[in-house]
Amino acid sequence: MITSRDAVGQRSETVRRSNLSAIVRELHLRGPLSRSELVAHTGLTRSAIRGLINELVAGGLVTETPSAPAGTPGRPSPLVHPQPKSAVAIALEVNVDSLAAARVGLGGSVEHVIRVDRPRAHVTVEQIVSDLVELADPLLGWPADEERLVGIGVAVAGIVRRTDGLVRLAPNLGWRDEPLGRRLAAALPTSAPVSVANEADLGGLAEHRRGAAVGVTDVVYVTGEVGVGGNVIVDGRPLVGAAGYAGEIGHMIVNPGGTACGCGSFGCWETEIGERALLLRAGRPPSGGRQAVDELIAAAAAGDAEALASLAHVGRWLGIGLVSLVNVFNPTLVVLGGIFERIHPHVTSAVYAELDRRALAASRELVRVSPGSMGVDGPLIGAAELAFEPMLADPAARLAAASATQPMRAGAQTMEVQIASQARGGGT
Ligand SMILES: [Zn+2]
Repeated sequence: MITSRDAVGQRSETVRRSNLSAIVRELHLRGPLSRSELVAHTGLTRSAIRGLINELVAGGLVTETPSAPAGTPGRPSPLVHPQPKSAVAIALEVNVDSLAAARVGLGGSVEHVIRVDRPRAHVTVEQIVSDLVELADPLLGWPADEERLVGIGVAVAGIVRRTDGLVRLAPNLGWRDEPLGRRLAAALPTSAPVSVANEADLGGLAEHRRGAAVGVTDVVYVTGEVGVGGNVIVDGRPLVGAAGYAGEIGHMIVNPGGTACGCGSFGCWETEIGERALLLRAGRPPSGGRQAVDELIAAAAAGDAEALASLAHVGRWLGIGLVSLVNVFNPTLVVLGGIFERIHPHVTSAVYAELDRRALAASRELVRVSPGSMGVDGPLIGAAELAFEPMLADPAARLAAASATQPMRAGAQTMEVQIASQARGGGT
């Protein structure tokens, strides 16, 4: 039986954990902030912030430096820096054309990125797992970093069940129901959790947290290379659906009389706006990849009629699909990623023309269309964010684990003395 005193204690512990989470999340997403800015962003009191920051300093997750006097009266507010090396995520990506790995520190600092091209061919999940383990090896740095590793995030060009990283379908890899998450967890030399998600979902997450859609609460993200995918942010949260399969906008049926799609259906959006469609309509081999698209863009810029006609077709169909998404989700921003980020100067006017012509006026007048800002590494950055999520949700668990493996450091009361002595060393 819980006494009322226990209940109060539990409540205050829940509040403490939630407040620590709010602070660490702000620092992770925004970078160094003054205590005053943390007060403004979290709504916590100055004294609550002080106590919690002292805990985070003692746990090594942040450092404080005095901020330069701003020329205003009063004591300047100390600047709190997330410590990139105190918590790190490994991000992995299985793309149709490449494999990639990155090491990302708290605060979002990307320390290393490795990307290797791979041929566009069907490949076994065993081979990909073996290649990923090899790619990640130099980033892991065991055994010293094991306790700092918050998790492994994996972006894959397929439909993924979030709970266990089962890839239900990845037509361009030739996979159906492949247990990528389970196999990677078994093969990697760490007990850190492995989280797998669709790469378009993670590209959208990266744009929302660190790119073109920061601070925007209602966003439609469209990306593609061979396949077309996307991500919808509703009221600040990514829409994942019941199992993680939401956002497969490339398989909206836009042209019921259209051509066959890799998913087994016909007339999907992907068959009108994907890389294959773009290249085929310009009279080019459809499997030329990134380089072929770059050549097509260059040809269009030089006035090549076939290249321009193909871009016009893709722009029109991109707009037609977006009409439905804008009508359904009422976003204020559409972000174009992947191939669409690269061709956006050639398609934006056609997209706006279709929105003007067909979308509901009330929704149309609120939305703008922008290229993404993350480039090819967007899904990788999103994979790191996925891996950080459990730690951001409960940094107190990390503090407890750290204090269990280290001798007790100075208590909160003496921390301000320590902070002053660290004044020059805390830059990130
Ligand atoms: Zn399809």
